[in-house]
Amino acid sequence: MTRSGRDRRVVLGVSGSIAAYKAAEIIRLFRKTGIDVHVVMTPAAREFIAPLTLGTLSGNPVTVDLFGSETGGPYLDWGGEGGGNAGIRHIQTSREAELIVVAPATGNLLGKVAHGIADEPLSTAILASSVPVLFAPAMNTRMWENPAVRENVRLLIERGYRFVDPEEGDLACGEFGKGKMADPERIVDAALRLLGPARPDLPAILVTAGRTEELLDPVRFLSNRSSGRMGTAIAEAARDLGHPVTLVHGALAAPPPIGIERVEVGTAEEMQRALRRLSPLHPILVMAAAVADYRPARIAKRKIASGGEERSLPLAPNPDILAGLAASRRGMRTVGFALEIGGGIARAREKLARKGCDLIVLNDPTREGSRFGGETNEAVLLFADGRQEKLPLMTKERLARVILERVMQTPPERTSAPRRRKR
Ligand code: C5P
Repeated sequence: MTRSGRDRRVVLGVSGSIAAYKAAEIIRLFRKTGIDVHVVMTPAAREFIAPLTLGTLSGNPVTVDLFGSETGGPYLDWGGEGGGNAGIRHIQTSREAELIVVAPATGNLLGKVAHGIADEPLSTAILASSVPVLFAPAMNTRMWENPAVRENVRLLIERGYRFVDPEEGDLACGEFGKGKMADPERIVDAALRLLGPARPDLPAILVTAGRTEELLDPVRFLSNRSSGRMGTAIAEAARDLGHPVTLVHGALAAPPPIGIERVEVGTAEEMQRALRRLSPLHPILVMAAAVADYRPARIAKRKIASGGEERSLPLAPNPDILAGLAASRRGMRTVGFALEIGGGIARAREKLARKGCDLIVLNDPTREGSRFGGETNEAVLLFADGRQEKLPLMTKERLARVILERVMQTPPERTSAPRRRKR
């Protein structure tokens, strides 16, 4: 059976810490990647955030009460699908989920799970389920460091429970120290990695994004103005379609996407090494990174002294990563980007042939709507078999989807390349 991100269910357990308000952001991030979230709250959590808020954001009923009392009534379903009280919602919901994420997890909640105490819906749901559980603790530093809590965490780890450790920071109690719940992005990132791709049967996609930085001396580099937005949009679109994705990226203007395998590189040569290692595992490569064509011929060991007369800088050409990979991994489908100012169809076609890729995405950063770091792009797709498709101005997210659709429609055998063995 095939499934999309939308069929995937996560239970979000919320216990009683001031960090409970961050559950709202966690729900938003999960839903953005197409995951269905069902919230289970402890009674203390309801003192910090209203079930109505989390129910509205998740679009699902919130489990708040073990006994279906009047306050909890609307959120509870005692019947279950087959009727009978075996279908208590919090137990059933957690069984149907692929993962339980508890954020925030208080010292009390961890203690209960470690010792098998099930006196409210969240600890009951965890103890009655066999799906993986990820805890994001939030508590006062002294509590986090308390030997009883340390021992509970050790026990839970030993039993296979996973943790996103709290961070150091200013705590709500006015103290500074470790105990602040990890950022929602870190928690959802860890959860998505535990879940793995929604459609492991789809081809794995290797995406590059961002700019390379070519070192001149220990503090300076040559680079360009690419923001990395197009490449990260492609990686996110591939993730949301369920593909296994690896993103190899240089410097990015925005935080990298969550829930994706990532390899961060600095220079073009580092990017080439990473891609050579990863390409045999990925039948598709989308090369959206702005790779510097040249690097300083020598990297000075010390900071080059400033001031003085005019200087010139000897440059060495960087390897053409895309051309090299397209030639050596012939079964791989490859997509390149061509940034040409003022049309440039002929130059892009020449690039397509020279690099030996299946598809080139041509765009012009001087055109309104296609600027560096902008939200939209206007592109022309040039295919190896001679086809050409002019796309209207659209968001980078939409363009990412169109590019992926076209790549999936392109046969793995390049029309321009000699016939090869079928994979
Ligand atoms: O030749 P040009 O830099 O215009 O080519 C752009 C395309 O080639 C992009 O897909 C870019 O990621 C890739 N490229 C590369 N290695 C280089 C330079 C660019 O793979 N050294």
